[in-house]
Amino acid sequence: MRVLGVEGTAWCASAAVFDAEADAVFIESDPYEPDSGGIHPREAAEHMGEAIPRVIETALEHARGEYDDRAAGDPPVDAVAFSRGPGLGPCLRIVATAARALAQTLDVPLVGVNHMVAHLEIGRHRAGFDSPVCLNASGANAHLLGFHDGRYRVLGETMDTGVGNALDKFTRHVGWSHPGGPKIEAHAEDGSFVELPYVVKGMDFSFSGIMSAAKAAYDDGVPVADVCFSLQEHVFAMLTEVAERALSLTGTDELVLGGGVGQNARLREMLAEMCAERGADFHAPEPRFLRDNAGMIAVLGEKMAASGDTVAVADSGIDPDFRPDQVPVTWRSGESV
Ligand code: ATP
Repeated sequence: MRVLGVEGTAWCASAAVFDAEADAVFIESDPYEPDSGGIHPREAAEHMGEAIPRVIETALEHARGEYDDRAAGDPPVDAVAFSRGPGLGPCLRIVATAARALAQTLDVPLVGVNHMVAHLEIGRHRAGFDSPVCLNASGANAHLLGFHDGRYRVLGETMDTGVGNALDKFTRHVGWSHPGGPKIEAHAEDGSFVELPYVVKGMDFSFSGIMSAAKAAYDDGVPVADVCFSLQEHVFAMLTEVAERALSLTGTDELVLGGGVGQNARLREMLAEMCAERGADFHAPEPRFLRDNAGMIAVLGEKMAASGDTVAVADSGIDPDFRPDQVPVTWRSGESV
């Protein structure tokens, strides 16, 4: 089966083609880059409106050019999958409208994908893991997921902002452009440790206190490199601690990382070290599958379509607050953590 995926929950207009037989993913993305500040929902939606048709056309052209197994006039893909949520409503609506129109034009099924479950499934797919714990470290979210009794259960999560958004709030305060995570990573190279708040409660965690303290430290004259270094050490240690607790409590020996913050080398290093110490396998997908991308939507869309998990256009409404544990997992057998 060959599936077109369309992604546009916030900043990344993206379309991809996944061919299951070849296990090949082609991704075309067009990011929205704000001139100043963070992501402005209206500007992001305007970007989606302009960029989505273009990235879809490029992905379909790729499918037509790459594979010659279809008669002229046959659709180049067998299903269209789209991000149904969570995300910014104005962006989600544009992506859903494009996906519905395309599925109807090509006369193929439509698949509504949960963006957070896609962040998890792409790691599981690439690693060939059975039933891993997943640490989703993305912009607007941060949580630990494990499969149990037919659903991805939220084992732990942020009690306030997503991890990337927290980092971006600090860099906006400093006056750096969006996205802030890569700039924190670069400045951290020359930094030294200063103590900041560290808040973990069981498998939940909080970033608001550490972000306020980081801004205050910067305002008080602590060198920005030291604040960046210490932010990384604290925030990623918190994530590593809860990931280890989730592995320990579930008895699982596989961890996958998902989300844009997963591109950070220090986070990956801490998680890999923790897994090595306890004899667990760790997998972080390559960067193109960590940040928002339609490849993960196409890959999960293919699994869902293959198991008959498609959606009628009339029932394909978006959900800006779509949680991963709302999704009945139809595409895998009953093994649990
Ligand atoms: P979500 O998937 O929750 O909807 P999102 O749409 O914001 O989140 P992602 O692409 O998963 O998107 O993550 C973007 C975030 O990743 C931004 O906050 C950005 O600062 C952060 N980020 C990107 N690269 C790095 C890095 N090298 N180190 C730390 N953070 C990073």
